[in-house]
Amino acid sequence: MARRRQLYEGKAKILFEGPEPGTLVQYFKDDATAFNAQKKGTITGKGVLNNRISEFLMLKLAEINVPTHFIRRLNMREQLIKEVEIIPIEVVVRNIAAGSLAQRLGIPEGTRLPRSIVEYYYKNDHLGDPMVAEEHITAFGWASPHDMDDIIHLALRINDFLTGLFLGVGITLVDFKLEFGRLYENDEMRIVLADEISPDNCRLWDSKTNEKMDKDRFRRDLGKIEEAYQEVARRLGILPEAGSRDLKGPETMQ
Ligand code: UDP
Repeated sequence: MARRRQLYEGKAKILFEGPEPGTLVQYFKDDATAFNAQKKGTITGKGVLNNRISEFLMLKLAEINVPTHFIRRLNMREQLIKEVEIIPIEVVVRNIAAGSLAQRLGIPEGTRLPRSIVEYYYKNDHLGDPMVAEEHITAFGWASPHDMDDIIHLALRINDFLTGLFLGVGITLVDFKLEFGRLYENDEMRIVLADEISPDNCRLWDSKTNEKMDKDRFRRDLGKIEEAYQEVARRLGILPEAGSRDLKGPETMQ
């Protein structure tokens, strides 16, 4: 059988042509990068876990009527998604000061923010994903004011929902990054949640110990990265039945 046509390879995922028009296959790699790809590595089993975690969270969000690109998981490392026009903005929602916000504004990491803060970064590797304001986004036409209304509304709903969901399993949702896309269906356009939601793009701290359970373990060389991702999946009740031995997943694609 001919291999599927690869459309795009990113740092952590590959997109292939889907089986039907308007669909894509999203393949999750074990590769990890940080600091605009200056730091590179592999986290064994990460792709398998992120595929499962993102599936779980996208399905939960669909239950509260958050539109997403997710259709279904195909196998250990792949999921079928709807093809969308990606809006070139990273939407970061923060509940607790950490990472770049803590550094930029000199707020000690771990400080609870007076209210949730939404930030935007222009997706451009050459420029190092600079922070932008809504004004830049609408002035340069990356998204319309109407798109932005939908995006902010969805981002805050997703934050409220995921904060509660994670709290229920003893995890504090510190901050996370979302990407949105435009989905065209019967002459209508809808903004939908795209990309993935996983410990690669969330900060997740154990609610009791504040231990980091996310990609900061890789960024900051804290060790036990695989274990942290597995623990997130385990707490969400979605660790593959066979346990961690199988986390490498199939080496070949369908
Ligand atoms: N984030 C991401 N991709 C990026 C930048 C940030 O997924 O290119 C996520 C990151 O994992 C964290 C949140 O967005 O959960 C906020 O990241 P921050 O701005 O603090 O940047 P960092 O410290 O990761 O450079």
